[in-house]
Amino acid sequence: MTDVDLESEQYEKHREAGEILATVRDEVVDRVEVGARHLDVAEWAEERIRDLGGEPAFPVNISIDEEAAHATPGIDDDSTFGEEMVNLDIGVHVDGWLADSAITVDLSGNDDLEAASAEALEAALDIVEAGVETGEIGAAVEEVIEGYGYKPVVNLTGHGLGHWEQHTEPNIPNRAVSQGIELEAGDVVAIEPFATNGSGKVQEGSAEEIFALEREASVRNRQARQALDEVTERFKTLPFATRWLETDRAEMALRRLKRNDVVHGYPVLKEDDGCLVSQKEHTVIVTEDGCEVTTRSR
Ligand code: MN
Ligand code: MN
Repeated sequence: MTDVDLESEQYEKHREAGEILATVRDEVVDRVEVGARHLDVAEWAEERIRDLGGEPAFPVNISIDEEAAHATPGIDDDSTFGEEMVNLDIGVHVDGWLADSAITVDLSGNDDLEAASAEALEAALDIVEAGVETGEIGAAVEEVIEGYGYKPVVNLTGHGLGHWEQHTEPNIPNRAVSQGIELEAGDVVAIEPFATNGSGKVQEGSAEEIFALEREASVRNRQARQALDEVTERFKTLPFATRWLETDRAEMALRRLKRNDVVHGYPVLKEDDGCLVSQKEHTVIVTEDGCEVTTRSR
């Protein structure tokens, strides 16, 4: 038995965030085409989220080919899409209650790699209910992706979503593990299989465009203090991009905050050069006999 009230305000806000996300994701997919600018796509999606009454929970991630996560356009980024595998990862929150969803738009002609992560996600969603172990979800993901002849990326996982917290317990593995934990009714979790024709492990690259507050601190430099005030006020500990800051000379201010360990960066996570990675992700509310996918297309 559960005493969780799934009609309470926090779940309603999770649902609202999920609905906004699904709308924006479905609309932005059509804007991903050869020659379009990454920055235009990211900013269009982030503005659309705000227009619909949400806030971006993190900068729209646009990861290309061997990149798996944490890439977002810089302030005056001129990159455009080529014939590539494009992963879009989008987050929305309503008063700090989150939704997180990703989709691969394949412009590279590798439909089956895209299908592998999409089908793995559906297999995972099929078995989610109160009492299922996270290791069983990982096993379902692994089986589908290996059935396609690819590897799951094993050092990226799904996760719980907390209030103003984008990554909480439990981790949802993308392979069978013996020590899983049981999901409970009312848990809000993101499940996100990644499939690759590479090694199945991502590494940190040198690029870093996404940041988050690490700790409270007092800083003397005026610009750094302004940037810190803005981050604390607008994003709390949620991830943000340099291009979101209104503070003057934000890039320099951020470098200073990073040097003092007040903010931390998220390096781009990537497979080996020349490989491809696909991803699909939904956010769910776990129920006694299944789950409610908050980010499903309507
Ligand atoms: Mn995501
Ligand atoms: Mn996620």
